[in-house]
Order: sequence, then C-alpha cells, then structure tokens
Amino acid sequence: MAFTLANFPQTPRFGALPPEFYTRLNPTPLPDPVLVAWNSELAEKLGLHTDPQAHPDLAHLLAGNQLPEGASPLASVYSGHQFGTYVPQLGDGRALLIGEHRAPDGEIYELQLKGAGLTPYSRMGDGRAVLRSSIREYLCSEAMQGLGIPTTRALGLVSSPQPVWREELETAAVVLRVAPTFVRFGHFEYFHRTGDHASLRILTDWVITHFYPQCRDEPQPYAALLLAVAERTAQLIARWQSVGFCHGVLNSDNMSILGLTLDYGPFGFLDGFDAGHICNHSDHTGRYAWHHQPEIGLWNLHCLAQALLPLADKEALTAALQQYQSMFESAFANQLRQKLGLVHWQEDDWNLVSRLLEMMQQSTADWTLFWRALANFDAESDLHNAKLRNFFIDRPAFDAWSAQYRARLDQEHSIASTRAERMNRVNPLYVLRNHLAESAIREAVKSGNFTEIERLQRCLAHPFEEQNEFANYAAAPPDWAQEISVSCSS
Ligand code: AMP
Ligand code: MG
Repeated sequence: MAFTLANFPQTPRFGALPPEFYTRLNPTPLPDPVLVAWNSELAEKLGLHTDPQAHPDLAHLLAGNQLPEGASPLASVYSGHQFGTYVPQLGDGRALLIGEHRAPDGEIYELQLKGAGLTPYSRMGDGRAVLRSSIREYLCSEAMQGLGIPTTRALGLVSSPQPVWREELETAAVVLRVAPTFVRFGHFEYFHRTGDHASLRILTDWVITHFYPQCRDEPQPYAALLLAVAERTAQLIARWQSVGFCHGVLNSDNMSILGLTLDYGPFGFLDGFDAGHICNHSDHTGRYAWHHQPEIGLWNLHCLAQALLPLADKEALTAALQQYQSMFESAFANQLRQKLGLVHWQEDDWNLVSRLLEMMQQSTADWTLFWRALANFDAESDLHNAKLRNFFIDRPAFDAWSAQYRARLDQEHSIASTRAERMNRVNPLYVLRNHLAESAIREAVKSGNFTEIERLQRCLAHPFEEQNEFANYAAAPPDWAQEISVSCSS
C-alpha cells in the first residue's frame, strides 16, 4: 500500500478557519527529489512508522510532486515587524500547510512543506529553500528537541537538483515541518492592521479553544491569553539563553503563539562567550544579539498586545506585559541555578553569575565546554580545578570566584557526585555548533553524502549523554569556524 504521509482528521483544525486566513494552492513540483533525511523517531511518535526504502514515493510526497490522499494544501497570511519595522503583508511565501495529522495519542499536528514553491505571499522571493539552510533547519529543530527546548519538529528532508539562486547558485530542498500549529504573533498583527477585527476575534478564540482552554474561564480571556503566551515566551528565551542559542531573526512573524522555537534561519550557538554575539551577518545593529533576546521577547509581546487591543482592555493587556520581566528573570534564575548545580536560588547568586559572565567574556571562554566542565568542580580544593582555571586569562579572578562558589556549595552541603549528575542533565555536551552543521552541509552539497547529517542527528538527540562515537562533536571549534558566515539568505 502506498505511504500516505498523514492520517487526516475528519475535520481539519487550521484548515477549518474561514478563507480570510489563507489561499489554497498546490505545491510546485520539484524534479528528481532525493530523500536526504527521514526522522524515524518522530515518524513513530506520529504513527507513520515506515521504512523509507520501501516507499519510493516518499521523496515525491516531500517534494510536493504527489499529494497525500485528502490533502488540501494552503498558504496562510500574516504580517509582522521585521527588524523593528512593520511590514503589512508577509505570509507563507514558501511554506504550504499540506494537511493536519492525527497521531495515535490523539494529538493533531500541522504538516508543512517549507520550500514548496511560489504562493500569493512570496513577494520578491522564489518560493524555494536551499539545501544548505534546509539541512540547518532539519538538524537544529531536532537538536532543540534533544535539549528539551520547545520547538517545531522536522520529519523529513528532500533535495532536488533544481537550481536556486542566492548569493551563488545553489539547489532546492524541502523540509517537512511539524507543529501543533505554526500560528505566529504576525497572524494577529495582520488582522489588527487590516482592520478585520471579526477575523482577529475568530483567530484569538480559535487559539484559546485549541491551545489555551484554561484562559476561557478567566474574567478577561484575551488578556489571560497574552499572559500565558508571555509566560511561554519567557520560559523559551530563558532556555535559549541557558544553552547559548541565538535565534538570529527574532521578528514578530517568527514568534510562535505556542512559545516554540520557530523559523530556523541564521541561528547560532555561542562558541566562545560574548554576550553581544550576533549570529546573523545581516543584523548590522545587533538587534538580535544574544543578550538582547530577552528584551526582544517583550518587544514582540508588545506587538501582540497591540494587535489584541480591539478585543481587550488596555489596562489588562498592559498588566500582562508588565509581568514578563519577572517571569523571565525567575525562569532564567532557575536555569542558572541548575547550571551551577545549586538546589536553592538566592538573590545574591546573581552576583555569582555576573562575576562569572564577566570572566567568561574577558576570556571568550567556550560556553558549552565551560559549563559542562563545571560539573567536575572540586569543592574541597582548587588543586584539582586547574582545567577550569585554564578557561580564564585572569587566574586570580577565577580563584576568587571559585572561593565564592565553594562557599555557596558548602552552604547547601552539596554532594559532589549528585551535583555533577544533576549538572550534566542541564549543561549539554553537544550542541549544533556552526562548524558541525557546515561540515554536514559541505558533504551533502559537494558529494551528495548525507551520513554526517544522520550522525549529527543521532548524537544531538541525546546531548547530555557522553557518546564515545561522537567525541569529536564535543570538541572546541576549529579555527575555520570563525570564517563561517550565516545570513538571512536561505
Ligand atoms: P523568514 O525571514 O525566512 O522568516 O521569512 C520572512 C518572510 O519572507 C516570510 O513571509 C517568508 O515566507 C518570506 N520568504 C523568505 N524566503 C522566501 C523565498 N525564498 N520565497 C518566498 N518567500 C520567502
Ligand atoms: Mg519567518
């Protein structure tokens, strides 16, 4: 029997919204698609377990050349603030919702083909995604999932020889993305700015019904929704900060209403620590630098709040926004507490952290390697802490910090072995550093060899576990990593 890709529910969820929300159209076929990656673990969770070898039509389904039975693809319309400026119309310019899938556990997921061709919202674009950026999206979605950070998922990836022009000639690819919904802050902004408040209400009620039902019983459901989204956003960004993830294009149209990491473009993980690290070479002012992400989360929530103004009290919306800062701080403190192996957080621990970050900044200490190594901190004597000390240029400063840290651990009667075990569950050994993604991309693009993608995915699914086979993925980046340039071009 042919593989159908999805078990479409009787009644679609997003697809049941009125026509104002989207345009229905089919993907534009891609020649000679080749399956680059298939996420069997996710496929199994979705009840789509299959041997890709046994289904030659799988590559054609992912490329949009065949439609699964019952599919009724659509591109949705949204707008949003890009780098602080309102853009009246964006939308799915190269992604198509091919349908919704009911998993065996009853959960419904939207399935999206990213790179499926032109839509009415393509603007100046070609509707395509290149293999390079599609590999990055595929790997990073799954790396984030491995880290336990909320994200859209990637079920499969196909490549086609079809040429696509970016800064140079590249080739096309399609990622099959999966999420409970791909609705963004920008969807709300669109209906607010176009004055279509009826659709705005339909959308907001729809989001509450399906994803935030607890808000319905609140005295002010729409302000309650904003508060709940603010909470998820604060939690998400605290997790990003913790693992050194920089999104790169935190425009309001890339902000998920569910607090998922969404739209992987020029993202990057910190190598050597620089609080002002800018991972996107097109971000000339550093608007989306690592240390700005928390406040940008709030900036985008303001956009969402403004869009909800026709539906809710200004005071109630403002009150919700005012809680963001403290929600973020407590979420981030919670992350830092765990990273430091502490059981309780005290106000003064901010001081411990800021002194550490200053030292890390001064020495460009590797974010991932340092935190992972901290699990081996010897609280008895600094004699055994030489490896940690070597991360820093200013050794006396480290000694002073280490004394403060030791005192804090003593105060909690911390036990080395259990502390290390706890720390190793929050400080990953493996993250998708740029150079790792780049090696996988080079092999795939130059030689059509996809084994590095498969290996990286396998490793990053368990980033906290030491895996001998992947020891090289845990190493410091090579010198050439500095030269990798990642921009909005994708
Ligand atoms: P992004 O920066 O990738 O989040 O995209 C911003 C907007 O540009 C969205 O509306 C995308 O759908 C659209 N877009 C990006 N790249 C392309 C492309 N190659 N073709 C058509 N639309 C695109
Ligand atoms: Mg986007």
